Amino acid sequence: MRILTFDIEDWFHILHKYPDNILDKWGNYEVRIHNNMDKIFQLLSDFDVKATFFVVGYIARKHPEVIKRIHDLGYEVAAHSDMHKVAYLESRVEFKQDLLKCINSIQDITGKKVISYRAPAFSIKKENTWAFEVLKELGIEYDASIFPAQRENGGFNDFPECSPLIVKHKGMIMKEFPMSVDSFFGNKFVATGGGYFRFFPYWIIKKIVANADYTMTYFHPRDFDPNQPMLDGLSLKRKFKSYYNLSTTYPKLRKLVNDFDFIDIREASKLVDWNNVPIVDLSHYLDNK
Ligand SMILES: [Zn+2]
Repeated sequence: MRILTFDIEDWFHILHKYPDNILDKWGNYEVRIHNNMDKIFQLLSDFDVKATFFVVGYIARKHPEVIKRIHDLGYEVAAHSDMHKVAYLESRVEFKQDLLKCINSIQDITGKKVISYRAPAFSIKKENTWAFEVLKELGIEYDASIFPAQRENGGFNDFPECSPLIVKHKGMIMKEFPMSVDSFFGNKFVATGGGYFRFFPYWIIKKIVANADYTMTYFHPRDFDPNQPMLDGLSLKRKFKSYYNLSTTYPKLRKLVNDFDFIDIREASKLVDWNNVPIVDLSHYLDNK
C-alpha cells in the first residue's frame, strides 16, 4: 500500500515557534501557493492518481479557492492545524481550539466532514499523547501524525510500528497511518518526503519504495518551488534541510508516481483490515498534560 499526501501551507510555514505578530508578518509575505498547487494538480491529473491534502486553516481562510479546487477535483481535504503550531507546545485547550477552527474553516468551504488529520511537523509525541483524545472529540477518524523516527522537532522515535495500526489511549482508539520509515545501520529515516527525498538520488528512493509493503509520503507546495525566498534567521542546518536540492523534488515525485501506484487515505482506509492490525497502547507513555 502506497499513500500520497500533501500538507497544504505556504513557503513561510516552516518555523516551529512563531512570534506574536505572526499574522501581520504572514500577510506581508509574497503568496506563492498558487503556482505550486498547479504543479500538484497537474501531476495528479497526468498520472490519474488521488491524494489526501492536509490543509492549514489559515490557508483555507486566506485562499478558499485553493481548497475549493482540491475538493471539486474529488480529492480528500483533511486538517493540518489552523496556525501550523507544533502540538506539543500547546495546552490541550489551545490545541483543541486551534484544530476546531481549522476543521470549521475547511468545512465552510467543502461542506464535507473532515475526518483525517496530520499534526504540523509530526508533533504528536510521547509528551502529548492526549492529542489523540482531542482528535476523537472533534470527529477525526484517521490520524497520520506519527513519525516513528528521530526528528529535529516532533517524532516518536521508539514507536514500535510503521504500518497502519490502531492507537489505543485511555479507552479511546484511533486508526493511524504513520510515516513509513527505513533504516540504515540502525538509523531510522523517512525517505518519502522532506530532506531525505531531496537528498537521495531517485534510484535509492525507488529501491526503498519497491521493497516496502507500506509507503506513506508527505510533500508541500513549497517543495516544488526552487525559486522561493529564503526565510530570515534560519540556522545553516535548517537552511540545508529546507532548501537543499529543491529543484529535484518535482521530477523525482513524477517518476515515483509513474513507477508505483498510489492511493489517498480515504481509499487506503477501506483496504486495511482494521481487525487485524497491530494495536499500540499509548497509556504507558508519559502524559503530562
Ligand atoms: Zn506542515
